[in-house]
Amino acid sequence: MPPLQLIWFRQDLRIHDHAALWHARQAGPCIALVILSPAQWQLHNDATIKIDFYLRQLKALQQQLLLLNIPLIIEHIDYWHNVSPSLLIWLNKLNIQNVHANIEYGDNEHHRDQLISEYLTQHKKTLFLYHDRSIFQVGSILSKSQQPYKVFGAFKKTVYEQLNICLPQCFPSVDSQHQLQLNCTLPNKIPTLTELGFNDIAPEQQALWPITEGYAWKKLDDFIQHDVLDYDQTRDFPAAQGSSQLSPYLNIGILSVRQCLHALFSSSHGQFHLRHHGQQIWLDELLWREFYQHILFHYPQISKGKSFKPELQQLKWRDAESDLIAWQHGHTGIPIVDAGMRQLLATGWMHNRVRMISAMFLSKNLLIDWRLGEQWFMQHLIDGDLAANNGGWQWCASTGVDAVPYFRIFNPMTQSQRFDPHGHYIRQWLPELKHLDNKTIHMPYQYQPDMQLNYPKPIVDLKQSRLRAIEHFRLHVN
Ligand SMILES: Cc1cc2nc3c(=O)[nH]c(=O)nc-3n(C[C@H](O)[C@H](O)[C@H](O)COP(=O)(O)OP(=O)(O)OC[C@H]3O[C@@H](n4cnc5c(N)ncnc54)[C@H](O)[C@@H]3O)c2cc1C
Repeated sequence: MPPLQLIWFRQDLRIHDHAALWHARQAGPCIALVILSPAQWQLHNDATIKIDFYLRQLKALQQQLLLLNIPLIIEHIDYWHNVSPSLLIWLNKLNIQNVHANIEYGDNEHHRDQLISEYLTQHKKTLFLYHDRSIFQVGSILSKSQQPYKVFGAFKKTVYEQLNICLPQCFPSVDSQHQLQLNCTLPNKIPTLTELGFNDIAPEQQALWPITEGYAWKKLDDFIQHDVLDYDQTRDFPAAQGSSQLSPYLNIGILSVRQCLHALFSSSHGQFHLRHHGQQIWLDELLWREFYQHILFHYPQISKGKSFKPELQQLKWRDAESDLIAWQHGHTGIPIVDAGMRQLLATGWMHNRVRMISAMFLSKNLLIDWRLGEQWFMQHLIDGDLAANNGGWQWCASTGVDAVPYFRIFNPMTQSQRFDPHGHYIRQWLPELKHLDNKTIHMPYQYQPDMQLNYPKPIVDLKQSRLRAIEHFRLHVN
């Protein structure tokens, strides 16, 4: 019999189109491993709703692996720096030589894998790592002068050329293996959130993000069959639900980005040809995800609180705790911002357009450090992803790669009038403004300063704060 292999699942909780699982099964029968690291997750500011989502999907994965006769070890190791010795104990106990895992792109993740790899090599074992999370291997999309791209448009152009040559294929599904006879019992209990030291998530919140068999596939399929065709028209309107809402499923790997690509190109039989503008724009969004992952790989310092633009690293931010708290809880008096922040707290997700409005409001109008916003988002997003979150925040704060110029500041009121013209989104999340007409709802006190509402007055003047931000940034940029 070929030697036993260990397949270590991380942010890739699926059995289809899985690089490491496929390679491991090619090499021999497998035992699977998942390591739960709640203290490490807290260090990374992972949201409880995201951890809950992970644990729920882990249960589903366990069932799927059972059907493949792949036993699953569930280990609890608080910090990653303690992983190596425990891993070695399992490898020795089960007489396993090789560990297979998909690469994760964060700096701590990279460092962890390096240490584990060296440790295992010292003990004559091997860690095999596979590229899986992005469309193209990070580091492989370079300019003609072999430099990483710093402009999305140029990056996209090269990616288009590559996709035109060949769409990356999905990995084949793995067969079920013979039942293994093991000489020890494996820990396979999935702990509850409270056992891991987190508060429970309300069932209503869980119900927003189902994990039932095939759910993510169906959601992807439905989106590709119907909504993607109008995506270019609807994606910016938060009340329209025109985007896929697949980000949580992509983030913990319930779906792979290759599966999304192949679904998108299915109507053109796998050829790089899209008939609808909506499809094209959706592809571009997947490529923003790709871009930020490549950026994180080339510039790992951005995950350590550093601005991508060094000249803005020393920018002095306002120390304004009460403004920060008002923003966090959706009490700024700017309805579109507050609606977004309340959507985040209620659902763990926020519409992209509103993420941009809200992030720009914090970093520009309030002139509060984008890192505090980045952290708050991470602590509450079900799709919290280091590369995308950091990329989004640094874009809005003008400190990032290919970011919005510092003087182009969204006016949240005009954004609100344009993208939520009938106030449906605001009414959904701010019921205290429900009765206002479509004009007043975007800025209640603007037209009637004495209006009696159970809603705060704006904590900042939009015009003055915009000028303050431009002047402040200008001093640092010039
Ligand atoms: C301040 C800020 C913070 C953000 N934080 C995150 C985050 O932590 N995790 C996250 O996945 N996205 C983040 N985004 C990007 C974007 O808001 C979400 O990916 C999107 O709202 C998810 O909804 P969807 O699945 O319906 O996206 P769709 O519009 O259907 O797009 C499909 C997929 O493409 C990817 N994508 C879309 N837009 C972007 C983008 N601008 N940058 C990177 N990837 C993108 C996502 O994986 C998304 O699921 C952030 C954006 C901003 C402005």
